[in-house]
This record gives sequence, C-alpha cells and structure tokens, in this order.
Amino acid sequence: MPDIFKKGQKTALVAGTATVFFAIAKAVVGFISGSIVLLADAIHSAADAFSTFFAWFGLKIAQKSPTEKFPYGFYKAENITALIISGLILFAGFEIIKEAAGKIFILGELNIPLAAIGVAILDAIIMFFVGTYEMKVGREINSQSLTADGKESKMHLFSSGIVLIGLFARLFGIMYLEGIMGILIAFFIFKIGIESAKDSIFALMDVSPSKGTEEKIKKILESISGVRGFENLKLRKAGPFIFGEVQVKLGRSVNINQAREISNNIEKEIKRKVKSVDSLIVGIAPKIAESQKLCIPIKEEQGLDSEISNHFGRAEKFMFIELEKDEVKNFYFKDNPFLEKEMRAGLESSEFALKEKIDSVITKEMGPISLHTLRDNVVDVYQGVDGNARELLQKFLKEKLKLLGKPTKEK
Ligand SMILES: [Zn+2]
Repeated sequence: MPDIFKKGQKTALVAGTATVFFAIAKAVVGFISGSIVLLADAIHSAADAFSTFFAWFGLKIAQKSPTEKFPYGFYKAENITALIISGLILFAGFEIIKEAAGKIFILGELNIPLAAIGVAILDAIIMFFVGTYEMKVGREINSQSLTADGKESKMHLFSSGIVLIGLFARLFGIMYLEGIMGILIAFFIFKIGIESAKDSIFALMDVSPSKGTEEKIKKILESISGVRGFENLKLRKAGPFIFGEVQVKLGRSVNINQAREISNNIEKEIKRKVKSVDSLIVGIAPKIAESQKLCIPIKEEQGLDSEISNHFGRAEKFMFIELEKDEVKNFYFKDNPFLEKEMRAGLESSEFALKEKIDSVITKEMGPISLHTLRDNVVDVYQGVDGNARELLQKFLKEKLKLLGKPTKEK
C-alpha cells in the first residue's frame, strides 16, 4: 500500500477526532443548557464522525490483502457498513425533526449561555481549518471521500450559524425560531445520510468513477507506444479505489513479449498517474485496429501512382497513407530531410516517420538500424516489391506482403 494512503488515513483520523470532540461537547453543553438546536447539531457532528470514520476505514481496509475466499479484497466492506450507518443517520434526522417541531411553540430558558455560544463558534472555526486541510490532502492523494468530507467540515460555518440563531432565539425569548433552526439542522443531517447512502449503494453496484477520471485514463491509453486503439474500457469503484479492464488493439506483427511489455506499460503508467487505480486488467482485442497509417518511401510524388523507392533512409520522399476500415481516407507526402546525410540517415528517417504515428512501413530495402528502431516502436515493416502505392496497398490489404524478419542489407 502506497504511503500516500497512510497520509490520507492520518488526516481522516485528525478530522475524526475533532468531530467526535465537538459531538460530545455539543451534546453535553446542549443537554445542560437545554438547547434543542445544540443537541441536534451534536447529532449532526456524530453523523459527520461516522462518515469521516468511513473515509479512514476505506483507506485502512485497502491495506488488507485479498484472501482465497475474497480474491478481490475487502474494499466493499466500507460500502456495506457505510450503508447501514446511513440508515441510522437518516433515522436520527427524523427524530430531530419530531423533537424540534415539538419545540416550535414552547419557549424555554437557556442555561450556561456563554458555553453554548462558545462551543458553536469554536466548532465553526476549528472545523473550517480541519476541512481546508482535508481538502488539500484529499486532492493530493486523489481521495474523493476525503475531499467530500473536507467540504462538509467547511460547511460548519453555516450549521454553526444556524445553531447561534437558535441559541439567541432561546436567550431572548423569540418564539418559533429555535424549533425552525432545529429543523434546518435536521436537513444537514439528512444531507449527510442521503449522500453517504447514495455513494455506498452506487459503489456496491459497481458505479463507474467520475467522467474526469475516465477521460484521463483514456488519454494515457492513447499515449502509450504500440497501442493502436482500445475498446471495452470498464472502470468501477470499490471503496476508495478503482478497478478496471480494457482491451487494446495492437499491430499485426506484435509478438507475445511485446504484447506483455505494452500491457505492463499501460498498467504502470495508469497507476502512476491515477493513484486511486488499484488494478487494471489489460487484454488484447481480437480485432486489430480499424484505422491505420502506412508509410512508403517513394521516388516522386504521383498520387497513388507514386513508385516505391529502392531505399528507405535514402528515399526522395515519404508517402503517408491513412486507412479507415481498409479504405484510403487520406494520403500526403513529406520530403526526406535526411536524403543528403552521410551518416545515420536510416535512424533519422525512421524517427522522422515515427513522428507521423505510423503503424506499418512498406519498403524494398532496410538496414538493421532502421528496422530495429521501427520494430522497437511496434511498427510493422513489410517487404514490398516494385510497383506503385496503389498496387502495394492492394497486396498489403490482401495480406500478400511478407513481414520483414531481418534487414535486407548489413548497413
Ligand atoms: Zn457537518
């Protein structure tokens, strides 16, 4: 388990301790002073304490290794317990509404008013700072539960404001106000209960993570060399983590070792950039990519009638052909800037062609350096015979061209 989750756990623990402290302080002061809003707000803090506890618990349970009986780990234990507690929180909300509604037409006295006001103000200030810190760490480690928890803590500026109005109402004997403020506090409690119930039910039903996370993962997939598209990307949340699977499309000539390397790269890159990803299973799609780009070294520009050059590194021009479902979608030409170069023309022209994001090369001749450079970047190299681009393309599509297994010349 990465250290960053330890940091998250610690933060959740600090926030939880502060919340429990205020829950107890408000309950005691609320009971002695006889303030219904303060008591209601004590329950609000208790509900907060539970949801903070789950942020901590989720990060904790992630450290438990899977067993033979539970091969996917115990992430969902967080969601199940959170769901049960959400039910209790909602129940507490109803009780408070009943209690507060009963107080609307009754005026009571406020004992120890300074302590009551003090505890409400302290709650607002301290929880605001705790919440700011939680949000900072939550964003750092990409933990949604911690970030959400921090937002809630900062909302105590409002909930404590409501409590203060209720306290002053009782202090100055203003009718109705205290009961109404108590009902408002109950809405805070409902909000916590409903959100936590929703989150846990969604996670239990394998909800996908946020669109933003999905887009980020798609971008990383597209950036990995050798990946020519992907399909069936499925992501699901379990506790604070993301599990997923995807099928990637690879070129025709990719061998098992290359495929293994590509799929390792994918998992490594995604886990590095999206910390909440626990595992991503990479499969190989049965079909190869529908769109592909070909590169043919040519003698001179004559559209699809351009003749193939006798060389690769020393070709006059390169022709790039974009295919979509085996149909020519577009083609364009580029001069070979390394034509006159004495040394390393093969390496540099290969790298030049690679910049165009090509999938395959058709060539008559190729030296070892070009061939290795292209194949290391998972480009298929086919051996072409004489002919023009149109004819070679026909053969390529009918799979009549041979993959170039070894260089055609030594240098
Ligand atoms: Zn709260």
